[in-house]
Amino acid sequence: MPSILIIDNEFPIRADIYTFLERDGYTVQTTTNAAEGIQLAISNEFEFALIEQELSDHSGLKVLQAIKRVKPEIACLIIAKNPSYEIAVEAANNGAYSYIPKPISYEELSFHLSKGAKHRQLFIEARNLRKERYSNLQELSREKSMFKTVLNAINGGVLVINTDGELVYFNNASLINLNLDHLESGEQILQKLPEPIIKQISDYLFAKKYKSNISEIELEIIPNNKLYVQSVCSHIPKESNRFSGIVLVIRDITKKREVEHVKSQFVSMVAHELKTPLVAVEGFLQILQNPEITLTESKRIDFLKRSYDRIKSLFQLVNDLLDISRMELREKYRELDIIDFNEVVKTTINIFELDLKKHEITLTYNSDEALPKIKVEQNEISRVVSNLLSNAIKYNKPKGSINISLTKNENYLYFKITDTGIGIKEEDQPKLFQEFFRALNKQTRAQNGTGLGLTIVKRIVESYHGKIEFESQYGKGTSFLVKLPFVKN
Ligand code: ATP
Ligand code: MG
Repeated sequence: MPSILIIDNEFPIRADIYTFLERDGYTVQTTTNAAEGIQLAISNEFEFALIEQELSDHSGLKVLQAIKRVKPEIACLIIAKNPSYEIAVEAANNGAYSYIPKPISYEELSFHLSKGAKHRQLFIEARNLRKERYSNLQELSREKSMFKTVLNAINGGVLVINTDGELVYFNNASLINLNLDHLESGEQILQKLPEPIIKQISDYLFAKKYKSNISEIELEIIPNNKLYVQSVCSHIPKESNRFSGIVLVIRDITKKREVEHVKSQFVSMVAHELKTPLVAVEGFLQILQNPEITLTESKRIDFLKRSYDRIKSLFQLVNDLLDISRMELREKYRELDIIDFNEVVKTTINIFELDLKKHEITLTYNSDEALPKIKVEQNEISRVVSNLLSNAIKYNKPKGSINISLTKNENYLYFKITDTGIGIKEEDQPKLFQEFFRALNKQTRAQNGTGLGLTIVKRIVESYHGKIEFESQYGKGTSFLVKLPFVKN
């Protein structure tokens, strides 16, 4: 039921109008007081307000303003005792939808009321539309900022390019991965991209229809292996086999390539190491089986012995390589035991007894009492001790000495082995744990070795979250320190 508020001095305007309104189903409330009128309008739900232009205590236009400010949806109509063009304009400016001079006939009023109902309807619809648009815009900007946040969090570069070759979107990582200082949305991007990427995306930008496959290329951005990237290009689909642009993802693959490079270097090094003894053995065998070459018995035995030695060292090499690859498969396959490290050291020293005697090397061993145990695979840890001890013997001086100690701090057992040997040149020290590294000197040449011993030691120690360090003085001696975490009760 529509309701009307009438604010008029001459209350009731005219009794018949009041009656007619009620007859036509309007609820009517009246007041002669401006303040009360405003109060009523604000605290109730009126569809219409009829306001007398000149109230005794206030200007009707001021009342109109006050009501409209709080309840803009009320259709307000100004009734004027002394109508003028200026007042009509002012009333309209303040939000009245109509203006009628007194005296008012009911026909006139009902015509204005139906106009007011439409006016009100339109106002409400417009307001709802505005609200909806505003919330849509808010939603959109929320989505946009989320999209931006997500894309900026990705460490791969993302660039969105429309079919005119203009940059629609890019994230921070795309600047880094393409080594660019600046990019701007809306700019023509093609000329800024490296040649191989232009080629790659041209296929997509100038395609006749949507391609569902993606294209991947790898290219160098900064020379000398400083920045290498993978660029992945795909269409952004649009309805019915069309596309609205392309998206480029640029990933930094410098590290991955480095690893691949190291791996292939390792393989060629291994191949080389395997080939050398094989070539030697092949040479001996060729001589031995050649009927045109007569060899003395001792020469023949010598060749056979040398071949045998070569094959033995080849076995050693293959075993070392197997160990390394086994360690790369990691701890999964290991059976760990709780072990007394002190026992391992003692047993290993016993094994090297003869060697020590042969080189006239004196060995001293001190260990703290009642040391905590370690959780390791027995074989691996014996391997660490025997590799380090064999080096300390092999690279020692005749009648030299070796000192071994086993101690602990709060978390680690400290296994230290010091020799009075040939030492390691400063320039060789950084390469000590590299695969196949052997310092070039008379003594190392005289010793068998693959140069994998320390590589394996380091890998074993680190696989137990331990550390290995060394100090060496060329010509004086070397000391290795292995720290292994112990088991706590
Ligand atoms: P492998 O241990 O595989 O039989 P290797 O002893 O030559 O062969 P590593 O144990 O890895 O290989 O040692 C690498 C190189 O480091 C050695 O060839 C030697 O030049 C140097 N080196 C290692 N330990 C010592 C040491 N205690 N004193 C002097 N040089 C050492
Ligand atoms: Mg060694």
